[in-house]
Amino acid sequence: MKYYSTNQVAPHATLEEAVVRGLAPDKGLYMPEIIKQLPKDFFDHIETLSFQEIAYRVADAFFGDDVEPDALKQIVYDTLAFDAPVVKVEDNIYSLELFHGPTLAFKDVGARFMARLLQHFIKKEAGGQTVNVLVATSGDTGSAVANGFLGVDGIHVYVLYPKGKVSKIQECQFTTLGQNITAIEIDGVFDDCQALVKSAFMDEELNRHIKLTSANSINVARFLPQAFYYFYAYAQLKKLGRQHEVVICVPSGNFGNITAGIFGNEMGLPVKRFIAANNANDIFYQYLKSGKYEPKPSKQTIANAMDVGNPSNFARIYDLFGGSHERITSRISGATYTDAQIMETMRQCHKDTGYTLDPHGACGYRALKELLQPGETGVFLETAHPAKFKEKVDAILNGNIQIPERLANFMRGRKQSIEMSKDFNDFKDFLMKV
Ligand SMILES: *Cc1c(COP(=O)(O)O)cnc(C)c1O
Repeated sequence: MKYYSTNQVAPHATLEEAVVRGLAPDKGLYMPEIIKQLPKDFFDHIETLSFQEIAYRVADAFFGDDVEPDALKQIVYDTLAFDAPVVKVEDNIYSLELFHGPTLAFKDVGARFMARLLQHFIKKEAGGQTVNVLVATSGDTGSAVANGFLGVDGIHVYVLYPKGKVSKIQECQFTTLGQNITAIEIDGVFDDCQALVKSAFMDEELNRHIKLTSANSINVARFLPQAFYYFYAYAQLKKLGRQHEVVICVPSGNFGNITAGIFGNEMGLPVKRFIAANNANDIFYQYLKSGKYEPKPSKQTIANAMDVGNPSNFARIYDLFGGSHERITSRISGATYTDAQIMETMRQCHKDTGYTLDPHGACGYRALKELLQPGETGVFLETAHPAKFKEKVDAILNGNIQIPERLANFMRGRKQSIEMSKDFNDFKDFLMKV
């Protein structure tokens, strides 16, 4: 299957080209030419299948033309070495817990899948030159990518992060790994890290010397696999007899996660409608209201993985619905919450139900509380484990949340990082010597 760019200028790309490039040459986002329908009999007995079996069927629809069945199955099964359970929070509201992977957030799924797919393509090429993945992070992406690629042969990952600007818990998740992961601590802010990565991709001399690629969240190999757990959520609801009038609510920042769910819906997954829950960065919410898309600088909030002022995957939603505001609003509604509302929601939910929300999931839960209609069953995506934000969550709930063993292990590791200035020449010299 070929992939086209949302900007319609770049030539259509193969899967391998789209994965290695990330962004299309015309700066658009790659979209699959065809979204295949899954047959009715798949949905008729979906509740009897495992997470991995369901995911393989979905993966086959996306990637089956380009990756041999055995290899694809292996990639899917290796990726999903953890569960994504649906947990009842109250009568009509369920939490899809996407935090049972290595870094306790949903990005593990896409990062692990992309690592294994890239490795598959490298293996097929003779010569086997190491591929260097560059990733700039303000915290969460770096940990998911580093852990996703950890120990994967033929790939080396460089994580660039701003010195002193990521939390200790986040930092230890990508600085303690060693092996094929190198953490680089930049004397600057996140934007400096991102600028260094961009300059590296544009530097011809460097690109002649080493093979570079990005593991950006817009990459199709990170984006599409996020559809897997929407199907699995449906299967679990069906087991409970709650598969009718399902509404899915997604705490959204760059809108990759929700867009993957909408792709699932296009493939036949019976979801009635979607809700995109925003924090104070409400660009999408405003678009739904006015029909105008107006990016703004991002604002800092307590749900910081959603602090996005120009959501990149909006281009995919817009393309999928032919640019029609009416079609978009008929499928997706929105909500936006201040930090005060997020904190109040975390306290209220904990008091009423005993369930501990993280600040991102809290936006999703609240939007369902406010927007669910009689007869509907709501599922919100709990995108991260609350212990990832322990300091905030403890302060808000006046508690002491238990840190899961996986996270505690990172915190016992030894920090290994290379300090570097924000001057591109230093970064380039470093890469020229690897
Ligand atoms: C990345 C992230 C989000 C936002 O997901 P998008 O796909 O960018 O919309 C929400 N919550 C958490 C915890 C995240 O890490």
